[in-house]
Amino acid sequence: MNDLIAQLTEKLGAGAVVTGTDVSARATSYWDPSPMAAKAIVRPSTTEEVSAVLKLCNERGQKVITHGGLTGCVQGTDSGNGDIVLSMERMATVEDIDSVSHTLTVQAGAVLETVQNAVREGGMFLPLDLGARGSCTIGGNLATNAGGVNVIRYGMARALVLGLEAVLPDGTILSSMNKMLKNNAGFDLKQLFIGTEGTLGVITRAVLELAPQSTTKNTCLAALSDFSDVPKLLNHLKGTVGASLSAFEAMWGDYIRAVTEPGFHSAPMDRSHPYYILFECDGSDPGRDNDRFLEVVEQAFEEGIIVDAVLPKSEAERQAVWAIRDDFEAVLAPKPVFLYDVSLPITSMEAYVADVRALLVERLPQSDLYVLGHVGDGNLHFFVRANTESGDARDLSDRSVYEPLVRYEGSVSAEHGIGFEKKQWLAQSRSAAEIAVMRQLKATLDPKRTLNPGVVID
Ligand SMILES: Cc1cc2nc3c(=O)[nH]c(=O)nc-3n(C[C@H](O)[C@H](O)[C@H](O)COP(=O)(O)OP(=O)(O)OC[C@H]3O[C@@H](n4cnc5c(N)ncnc54)[C@H](O)[C@@H]3O)c2cc1C
Repeated sequence: MNDLIAQLTEKLGAGAVVTGTDVSARATSYWDPSPMAAKAIVRPSTTEEVSAVLKLCNERGQKVITHGGLTGCVQGTDSGNGDIVLSMERMATVEDIDSVSHTLTVQAGAVLETVQNAVREGGMFLPLDLGARGSCTIGGNLATNAGGVNVIRYGMARALVLGLEAVLPDGTILSSMNKMLKNNAGFDLKQLFIGTEGTLGVITRAVLELAPQSTTKNTCLAALSDFSDVPKLLNHLKGTVGASLSAFEAMWGDYIRAVTEPGFHSAPMDRSHPYYILFECDGSDPGRDNDRFLEVVEQAFEEGIIVDAVLPKSEAERQAVWAIRDDFEAVLAPKPVFLYDVSLPITSMEAYVADVRALLVERLPQSDLYVLGHVGDGNLHFFVRANTESGDARDLSDRSVYEPLVRYEGSVSAEHGIGFEKKQWLAQSRSAAEIAVMRQLKATLDPKRTLNPGVVID
């Protein structure tokens, strides 16, 4: 096998192949600080190099695990000592920002925040944003069909993709770097690689659609006394500020209280309310947008939908409010803490959360439950802090979250994907026929099971 590493080194150059303690010096992922395991990490810098790596590994029956920014939440990047890790870290170039066609052409290893900044400097807006922006990559975002905080207005990552380039497990380069909104010439093959978690190919480049930069931004953190007011507020906003609504994030009281404990974030308002909604509107009419936003918040007050509200008056204040939503470090210790990502209709959320809470009280009585989510998209996240190291805590917690979901016809994965972590739950959200077709696709494009084997499906 050293022969394989020698061949990879010959093809890519010595600096592009990392072995030994340089591998174990890296952390497994954002969530898991234990040393990374791999026979070698290869770091190609071009699509042709990705193709050469995959061709060689595929011929040799060598498993390859693709790494982006390692922020994925479902263990999709877990590798073992016998694996080759293909890291996209050297393919991070923003190739083109086209202000006429409103498109971005970018290599897949580019970090989301770097790309967001480059697009902003180019006078436009990349409508993809998530808390992991400082580490996650465009390729990882597309491979997981990431959601994030702007989905309510712009859709998930898939909705932004005009063109894509990917390398198949046998090294074939499939380049569809289309820039047009419309192109129905045959099958839309790029969809094979979006949301399939690196199981069918390695995404190397993409063309994404950009939006105009907004000139106004209005943000509000509102407190609500009853969950029935959450859909009322959403409908109120949709019926008034409509399409300018760009975020609608919910945080349950327990979450707010935990992340505003001393030493974490400062509380922007009374911490005792049961529900908080962080909503934001992006607009293009400075003369009217701010007044209209205020008017809409006041109406919500008058109608009793919200009971308290904070409107940040500066960008620093706005970021401090968003940090409460994005930075959940306070609930991540002591370990183990289990993160969940489910979707279900907003009208069923209150009953569902009550079911989960009741099951946890029964099965893991010492645990803490923290709830938040992109509720405007029907998406909830849970952090379950087990407060026990007992071996069955994970299983008890998983069953408490997923089993009641059946009643509400929800999905076991809203935006994080399946990875290795949720495989045993996939059949709860997908039919046997759907899973069979997933397997057929995998067998057709990757008959030797070279790429990310065992991720999503066996
Ligand atoms: C603080 C925080 C907040 C988060 N918030 C959100 C959120 O709001 N919404 C959301 O959807 N997710 C969220 N996530 C999860 C995570 O950031 C996303 O899943 C992200 O899209 C993963 O990107 P990555 O580059 O880190 O991918 P990785 O973690 O490196 O990989 C994820 C999967 O994609 C595959 N992959 C990576 N790059 C490629 C490529 N170029 N070609 C093919 N396959 C590839 C990997 O093999 C793996 O299966 C959050 C994570 C953190 C830590």
